[in-house]
Amino acid sequence: MKKILITGANKSIGFEAAKQLLQKGYYVYLGSRNLENGLEAVKKLKAEGLTNVEAIQIDVTDDDSVKTARTEIGKKTDTLDVLINNAGISGIKFDTNGNPILQTITAIDGSIDTFKEVYETNVYGVIRVTQAFLDLLKKAPEPRIVMVSSTVGSLSLQSDPDWPFYNYAKFAVYGSSKSALNMYTVHLAYELRDTAFKVNAIDPGYTKSDFNYHQGTGTVEEAASRVIKYALIGNDGPTGKFFSEETNPETGEIPW
Ligand code: NAP
Repeated sequence: MKKILITGANKSIGFEAAKQLLQKGYYVYLGSRNLENGLEAVKKLKAEGLTNVEAIQIDVTDDDSVKTARTEIGKKTDTLDVLINNAGISGIKFDTNGNPILQTITAIDGSIDTFKEVYETNVYGVIRVTQAFLDLLKKAPEPRIVMVSSTVGSLSLQSDPDWPFYNYAKFAVYGSSKSALNMYTVHLAYELRDTAFKVNAIDPGYTKSDFNYHQGTGTVEEAASRVIKYALIGNDGPTGKFFSEETNPETGEIPW
């Protein structure tokens, strides 16, 4: 049975990805930075008859937490087939009317603290987790790494005046963190090019979740199905690519 680790899987897109993978017969290590929330999520899945799942405490910003998660998973399995780097934050605070408070997140005024906080999770967190689990992934016959990214991290799209989010000042911090994640993805895929690994960045689409005060338009079910598609691609599948089915419904591929 293939084994999959998903970070930030206690709720929203990560939780739904766990559910869909369990329904397909995979074993899921459900990552949660708060173990209680992870255990609660596992309880919900087990109540639906989805039993091949266990909660793993993993805060992607915390070296010790990631190392402990690696040790714990290493006691249970010799191989990890899939890593889904899903945990992410926007750094956007909303006012009581649900409008983003721009002062802390624009290119001109965004505070260094906000940039650091968001990069700590969305960039360094992904690198930390990926490097920690690479040895277990290398033992799998068809290892897959999915980076849950965002179209607002695409330099090509974000600099196109016709792009609907072109003038979205609120994405200076978050968008640039996902651009950095994208570049890491390109390099990682390149470094693993002569192996069985497939490493891709996926935009799940603008999704209703806590992430955006439920202002997204898509469902977590749809978003998760886009993510898991690339966790399960075959050996003839792409690597080192960026996909958004919302942006390009035909092939899914979008420019970096
Ligand atoms: P969400 O509802 O805010 O859930 C985020 C998950 O990440 C939660 O489980 C959260 O844990 C976890 N997380 C945050 N910081 C963490 C840390 N330091 N260590 C471990 N886990 C951490 O967001 P979502 O909508 O499901 O988004 C999931 C991914 O999709 C993110 O990478 C996001 O950037 C990306 N994305 C989302 C959208 C969208 O419209 N929603 C669009 C494009 C891309 P807690 O419950 O403990 O906070």
